[in-house]
Amino acid sequence: MNLKDLVRTIPDYPKKGIMFRDITTLMEHPVGFRRTVDEMVQPFADSAITRVAGIEARGFILGGAVAHQLSIGFVAVRKKGKLPWQTISVEYELEYGTDEIEIHIDSIEPGDKILLIDDLIATGGTAAAAAQLVRDAGGYVVGASFIVDLPDLGGRARLEAMDVPVRALMSFEGD
Ligand code: AMP
Repeated sequence: MNLKDLVRTIPDYPKKGIMFRDITTLMEHPVGFRRTVDEMVQPFADSAITRVAGIEARGFILGGAVAHQLSIGFVAVRKKGKLPWQTISVEYELEYGTDEIEIHIDSIEPGDKILLIDDLIATGGTAAAAAQLVRDAGGYVVGASFIVDLPDLGGRARLEAMDVPVRALMSFEGD
């Protein structure tokens, strides 16, 4: 079974010119989902990770499964304004304007070794902001794991330039 065959591509969604890589079809597949989680964790299995940080929203599903697999806790990296307690945040650039992600102020302790999880890396803006957030909280980013990499958009290179090792299970050329 090839995991890439389980990812559905939807042309012109959410707007014209975007090839949307839909991982819901992969997650719906029992063997596919199991293997995806195993393979996202595999390079970091001996890294003494203390917490998984999943990026809203698909990163919650995958990150929860990864945290369970490693028997460690899960930290929710959320869009601004969703978390009920005190937060720290990082703002980042979008194609038009800016966005902001947050974690609870006490969800990462100094010295925590964090694995970042999301479904897909495109420009890397979201994941780079999440890595910055972990560092601002005093944590160490062990790596970042994704199902899909869109290499032409430069996200992997951007994270690697921040000294964050990147794991992706597949890539799609073009955007
Ligand atoms: P970026 O910050 O540019 O790396 O964008 C990453 C986020 O946007 C991820 O959380 C993805 O879920 C979503 N995303 C960006 N481009 C695509 C795409 N072509 N297909 C599916 N999701 C995408």
